[in-house]
Amino acid sequence: MDLLQTKIEYLKGVGPKRAELLNKELGIFTFHDLLDYFPFRYIDRSQIHKVRQICDDNVYYQLVGTVSNMQTFGNPRVTRITAIFTDDTGSIELVWFKGLKWIKNRFQPGKKYLIFGKASVFNNRFNFTHPDVEDYNPADSLAGEALQGVYNTTEKMKNAGLGTKQLAKIIKTCVLQVWNMIPEVLPNSLVLQDRLLSRKEAYYKIHLPSNSNDIKRATTRLKYEEHFFFQLRLSVHKKDRQINTRSVVFQQVGDYFNTFYKEHLPFPLTDAQKRVVKEIRADLKSGHQMNRLLQGDVGSGKTIVALMIMLLALDNGYQAALMAPTEILATQHLETLRTQLEDMNVRFALLTGSTKASERKQILADLAKGDLQIIIGTHALIEDTVVFKNLGLCIIDEQHRFGVAQRASFWDKTTFPPHTLVMTATPIPRTLAMTQYGDLDVSKIDELPPGRKPVKTAHVFQEQRLAVIGFMKKQIAEGHQIYVVYPLIKESEKMDLINLQEGYEAMARDFPEPDYHISVVHGQMKAEDKDWEMQRFVRGETHIMIATTVIEVGVNVPNASVMIIENANRFGLSQLHQLRGRVGRGAEQSYCVLITDHKLTGEGKKRMETMVRTNDGFEIAEADLQLRGPGETQGTRQSGMIEMKIGDFQHDEPIIRHTRKMANLLLDTDPTLSKPEHYATKQYFSQQFGRDFDWSRIG
Ligand code: ADP
Ligand code: MG
Repeated sequence: MDLLQTKIEYLKGVGPKRAELLNKELGIFTFHDLLDYFPFRYIDRSQIHKVRQICDDNVYYQLVGTVSNMQTFGNPRVTRITAIFTDDTGSIELVWFKGLKWIKNRFQPGKKYLIFGKASVFNNRFNFTHPDVEDYNPADSLAGEALQGVYNTTEKMKNAGLGTKQLAKIIKTCVLQVWNMIPEVLPNSLVLQDRLLSRKEAYYKIHLPSNSNDIKRATTRLKYEEHFFFQLRLSVHKKDRQINTRSVVFQQVGDYFNTFYKEHLPFPLTDAQKRVVKEIRADLKSGHQMNRLLQGDVGSGKTIVALMIMLLALDNGYQAALMAPTEILATQHLETLRTQLEDMNVRFALLTGSTKASERKQILADLAKGDLQIIIGTHALIEDTVVFKNLGLCIIDEQHRFGVAQRASFWDKTTFPPHTLVMTATPIPRTLAMTQYGDLDVSKIDELPPGRKPVKTAHVFQEQRLAVIGFMKKQIAEGHQIYVVYPLIKESEKMDLINLQEGYEAMARDFPEPDYHISVVHGQMKAEDKDWEMQRFVRGETHIMIATTVIEVGVNVPNASVMIIENANRFGLSQLHQLRGRVGRGAEQSYCVLITDHKLTGEGKKRMETMVRTNDGFEIAEADLQLRGPGETQGTRQSGMIEMKIGDFQHDEPIIRHTRKMANLLLDTDPTLSKPEHYATKQYFSQQFGRDFDWSRIG
């Protein structure tokens, strides 16, 4: 029996009541779970600041002093509590918005508390919002444990007398009792070669460090382990897929592809486009399912690649599907097909949520019979009612709007999973490419079509609006078209729509009919109205397109040369970059104008600066990741963010890179982990990832 799997209620100091609380509140059931509950920080009693020393916004401080003048706000329901914290150098305000019942009775006058928190500026003064609070006991620092782990607890736990301190004590008991029996799970050769702490030492030291070096080494070892097994899982799955997922084979290049290539290609392909088509063709011939990500900055010309690949499917007698995230974009793809495949006798159709019932019925019947060769559409394509005769390829445009689950839902529609190509303009930062997308092969279009001039970007403030209007008039006089985009955020949708409406009215005054024509598109409009407005702009009948982010993805109007973004600070970096990518598609010089007011957060300012500084999508994606963290970055949330215990996709790049290499090396030398020295690693792998993996699949 594995000691680490012992239920925590059998641990000294726990018992059934506390055990239940730990189960429910923290998901801790066994000794092992408890060991895996790491401190989120350490109290270093040797580092105590004074109120007077507080001088930086957003920096953590630890202070010792008294708490007084508690005030409650809100009537009858208290919504906020403030108090004054004082040491011998000064005072600072503490603020709480949550856990108020508990805070109310937390402090006794005159008693000393240790508080830890991030100083932030409010009304030109520093305060601490939701600081961590501990009773201060000077004897603690004399006990020789300068560093003490601090563990997250919940309000329920605190109320039940299981606060940070008590939890720390329980964890300490557990560590002391079992640490020596914690088995190694990494191959010994790795532990030696990379000079890692042994697993048991690491668990001991992460909870009970003697100095900061202990914390560092323990953290490194545990992160290493977590990333290593994660990478091992990715490699195993990739291998499994490569070996075992049979798919249709597109052996021949036939009339469709050749005719198009020789007679209909509207422009010479760039070298990057040619290379990518080759890479994809190799997949399609391989007999295994293609699962490839096609990455190319906005305007790099992914559509034509998609089109050619679809023709390959037709040449081999299969159907192809192209799915886009919005109706506008799907419609635009339809138009592209219509122009580029003219006279080629290809049967294709559009299926979206607003396709009329009778038409829809016909389309579904034709798809099932195989009369339709290409279907373009939105989410509507993955509904159960859509049945194909023989789907051989699906292409998903602008991946960041779709999740992995949606990708996979195509695979249920056929006996063999169809080849899948996912196209995205959002460059995937290196760490994510090694993690979230680690199971995809990647192709890149890293070159823009010739003759493009980089978009010039400026950041201006509201007062400069007049100059912006003047600039717009000049551009229109030169025959160009202009986008004006307003943010539309779900939480403040009403206000945003009012902004858009007011913006439109102001524009209509500055650009009156009949000299000027304006289109408006926003998410609340009916699809057909949206489409009509959009088409007017596409045809050049309107000069200005006022819109919310609905035009964010993929729309192609080469004559539009100016992108004006209102309240630009409310957009994330990758959104801004996507929006800017709507212009600069023709040969003319294009411009992007970011409008904000003067009140910008530090982060907002950085976003504007980044946009003005660079056009490089990759650099922007990296900056985005820096500013927001991967959990927030577009595309990661929907693909099922992987939760790590201690590993961190954003900051662990060197470890990720290294463990990826090591995991692959291990599989190369021992593909089924059958050597005796890998026994523990294999055991742990199966335990970690649930179902027993059938290693013979990749042997
Ligand atoms: P994205 O990769 O953003 O989807 P598109 O496929 O919409 O880009 O292409 C952007 C524009 O560039 C379109 O107008 C398209 O016709 C044009 N284009 C694509 N490839 C080339 C090329 N090799 N030479 C010239 N123009 C091209
Ligand atoms: Mg596109």
